[in-house]
Amino acid sequence: MYKDLNKKIAVITGGSKGIGTAISERFGKEHMSVVINYHSDEKGAQEAATAVEKNGGKAVIVQADVSTEEGNQKLLQAALDNFGDLDVWVNNAGMEIKSATHELSLDDWNKMVAIDQTGVFLGSKTALAYFKKNNKKGNIINMSSVHEQIPWPTFAGYAAAKGGVKLFTKTIAMEYAKDGIRVNAIGSGAINTPINAKKFADKEQYDQTVSMVPMNRIGKPEEVAAGAAWLASDESSYVTGTTLFIDGGMTLYPAFMNGQG
Ligand code: NAD
Repeated sequence: MYKDLNKKIAVITGGSKGIGTAISERFGKEHMSVVINYHSDEKGAQEAATAVEKNGGKAVIVQADVSTEEGNQKLLQAALDNFGDLDVWVNNAGMEIKSATHELSLDDWNKMVAIDQTGVFLGSKTALAYFKKNNKKGNIINMSSVHEQIPWPTFAGYAAAKGGVKLFTKTIAMEYAKDGIRVNAIGSGAINTPINAKKFADKEQYDQTVSMVPMNRIGKPEEVAAGAAWLASDESSYVTGTTLFIDGGMTLYPAFMNGQG
């Protein structure tokens, strides 16, 4: 628990499942007030809100599409209407589409960029404008991926978007450091969430993914949420513009694990 997070107000995008739900729950344990955004899974968002409240926080759920300016405005407005302020904004919503790049449709490319990259821009813009106007030393956390660094054949749109999130995060961290606003990213490795459900249901693919992780296991959403809580808290007060990798060592070139090469 981080005492300074008590009663802080956060927006979490894509909070109806997976990592977004885990961050919501963790923020609940920190006794924060959380706007939980969902796109279509209202039931999932409601369950996340119940978990926040059970843990001592407050929550409202809000339907919005993060790839639109109106959607992000709606989330800010919900924070102000329900809780009166905004301290932390987590751009977590994301999706991926697998396709050989020469067969990837422009529609699918645009979808990935719109949600994974433009969504991060719009959420950050909305939070930054509020922080600037109200002289607030706010905090932004962008959900990137190990694929901001590791190339991922057949997921070029996703990797390109996350690579963009990496430099966008660093750039705005620098741009707003003088205002006391901190901006960081989280680079998750392989985490057990619905985005991976199909892949991990297949034992061969599951084992193959585990073999790419030096710690030899898949990560839990709560382990990513713990990083988000730390980044949101004053315990990380001198940290900005960085990507915190929470990946069991996946970015450490595991092919070299046994001294090969
Ligand atoms: P998930 O599929 O379980 O959850 C993604 C959430 O984003 C869902 O709630 C979904 O409804 C929401 N979303 C999608 N499009 C949206 C839109 N237009 N507007 C609002 N919400 C929208 O996936 P997850 O694993 O929890 O992923 C969360 C974030 O973490 C994503 O940005 C993902 O790229 C990133 N990530 C996940 C992993 C992993 O292994 N699970 C690894 C690296 C990065």
